[in-house]
Amino acid sequence: MIRMAPGLLLLWLLLPAFSQAQWLSQQADIMGTRISVELWHDDPTLGELAIAAVFDEFKRLDEKLSPYKSDSELSLVNRMAAESAIDISSELFQLLQESRKYSELTGGAFDITFASIGHQYDYRTGQKPDQQRTRQTLPLIDYRHIELDPERKTVRFLRKGVKIDLGGIAKGYAVDRGIALLRKRAIEHALISAGGDSRLIGDHRGRPWHIGIQAPRNKQAMAAVLPLSDSAISTSGDYERFFEADGVRYHHIITPRTGHSAKGVQSVTILAGNALRTDALSTSIFVLGAEAGMVLVDRLVDVEAIIIDQQGALLTSSGLDSLDKH
Ligand code: ADP
Ligand code: MG
Repeated sequence: MIRMAPGLLLLWLLLPAFSQAQWLSQQADIMGTRISVELWHDDPTLGELAIAAVFDEFKRLDEKLSPYKSDSELSLVNRMAAESAIDISSELFQLLQESRKYSELTGGAFDITFASIGHQYDYRTGQKPDQQRTRQTLPLIDYRHIELDPERKTVRFLRKGVKIDLGGIAKGYAVDRGIALLRKRAIEHALISAGGDSRLIGDHRGRPWHIGIQAPRNKQAMAAVLPLSDSAISTSGDYERFFEADGVRYHHIITPRTGHSAKGVQSVTILAGNALRTDALSTSIFVLGAEAGMVLVDRLVDVEAIIIDQQGALLTSSGLDSLDKH
């Protein structure tokens, strides 16, 4: 047994009172979702500045990438790129290259040109394209219609009517940017989450972070809780943005091959090293479905998955056997 001198013991007990170090936590609504930052900092003032810097970065990316803002760089590309090659920022260029990478990796399940049809849905008002419109627009969904010139940093659409939307990776990318900002400020314990996309630095000071996976058909319940540190995690579900008509659930994840909402699973959770990857892959695996999805996950050594199928059964990839299922 270790003996402590009484004076030392007193100092140890009082130390927390002298130190200002603490957990800080703040939320903001940006990019159409709830952004939450939690971190540990020795100096609360600097900690709050760091959180503000993360929110500013989310706002900057929203201005640039939002399909709803007519003056965003993305909207400009959607308006002009079918006419001629457009000069774009190296940041947007890189995101388009990343998107192409995930399209190739997933056999086209991930495809930012889904928006050619996706933008005809309005999930709040229950608006959807009719069958004829879907059939006419379907040939426009193909990432190979996007021509990227790495030398000139230009983008061009090879067909009129092609539209793109980075909703499948933008939040993950923003989370990664936020984490990089915190790291630069020497923060060692932090969590950033943007709706379904989260990434954490370090642990929760001596114990893991605990991240819950929502039960898709019960807002009050968790399907599982994962103890995590130094990881990114994204969940894609059919319960976030959807409406029902004629017994069909129309939701915001589109199967590029059909132009319809992806069927087959209720939610997909992906674990990997960064949030762009987990964001892109959670959307992709949702499109691929449980069987083909797990085949892809097992091929990717740095990726694990938890899939909740249409019956509500929880399927896990081989690296997650010890999962705490609820
Ligand atoms: P959330 O936006 O709720 O985090 P996801 O990460 O699951 O959800 O991504 C869904 C978003 O991805 C949609 O809102 C849409 O912007 C985009 N998306 C939908 N289908 C595809 C697809 N097949 N490929 C790429 N992006 C898609
Ligand atoms: Mg996603």
